[in-house]
Amino acid sequence: MTDLGRIDGRTKLIGLTATPIGHSLSPAMHNMAFRKSDLNYVYMAFEVGNQQLANVVTGFRALNLRGWNVSMPNKTKILPLLDELSPAAQFAGAVNTVVNENGKLIGHITDGTGYLRGLKENGVDIKGKKITLLGAGGAATAIGIQCAIDGASEIHIFNANDAFQDRAKKNADIINNEIENINCKATVNKLEDLELLKESIKNSDILTNATGVGMKPLENQSLVPDASWLRPELIVSDVVYIPRKTKLLEMAESVGCKTINGLGMMLWQGAAAFEIWTGYEMPVEYVKEQMNL
Ligand code: NAD
Repeated sequence: MTDLGRIDGRTKLIGLTATPIGHSLSPAMHNMAFRKSDLNYVYMAFEVGNQQLANVVTGFRALNLRGWNVSMPNKTKILPLLDELSPAAQFAGAVNTVVNENGKLIGHITDGTGYLRGLKENGVDIKGKKITLLGAGGAATAIGIQCAIDGASEIHIFNANDAFQDRAKKNADIINNEIENINCKATVNKLEDLELLKESIKNSDILTNATGVGMKPLENQSLVPDASWLRPELIVSDVVYIPRKTKLLEMAESVGCKTINGLGMMLWQGAAAFEIWTGYEMPVEYVKEQMNL
């Protein structure tokens, strides 16, 4: 229950723009974390489509909001409305967190760092790892770019023959040619090339599903057709967290792989945003316990 008694003349507002928005776990997560940390902030969700986005950003600027989260469909459309982007947001071409630093709106993307923190919590360090990455949409882009920045050695991107193919090529090009001071090689491949996919999984340390396959309306589906493609040493992660155990993770568990679902990514992308706005660490253990994560 929201403790409205805490709101006073100094309360700082953090927003969230997206549509649809009612299902979001972020307001509950951040408000309980603010209360637990005794921080005078409140987090509110606003139903915002791309048409209203420019006006909303002007309004947020005028009201001097400390910051906000950005979700679909606003994550790419917001770019030209901001004053500065973090390197990861620039490479990903997307923003999920905005912070207002003395009137300057700075865009960050915390999905990739959130994903990696979720791996770390499970004892997995990305440095030197070979990854087979399924997908090239928003989640896959943030993950691929952050893995490259944080030291992965190879990223093999597999995408279906759909509208995201161009983004798959762009992501590989950014990793191979644009991000400086990294030692990561990326390839782009067709998801329909099952022999190549099987070979890539065989040679990888980590297999990551960064598509919506496994979640409604594609629940009980997996892009890996057969559990025999997996082996116990392989780490299998999924961005999906509803259901907590996707068909892919079920298959991986049956083989004895370490499996990691999308809950950690969801939680830690929020924790990173919390820290950007407040300068304090989110009380993650408390949030996990309260939200049954
Ligand atoms: P998106 O629309 O930007 O990208 C969709 C991706 O899925 C593309 O690569 C597309 O080619 C692929 N895809 C879709 N249907 C497919 C199919 N039938 N077969 C093969 N590939 C298919 O979406 P997004 O924002 O990247 O989200 C993808 C998933 O990640 C969603 O399930 C979303 O809920 C989840 N997600 C989780 C987190 C988290 O914090 N855990 C964060 C963001 C997104």
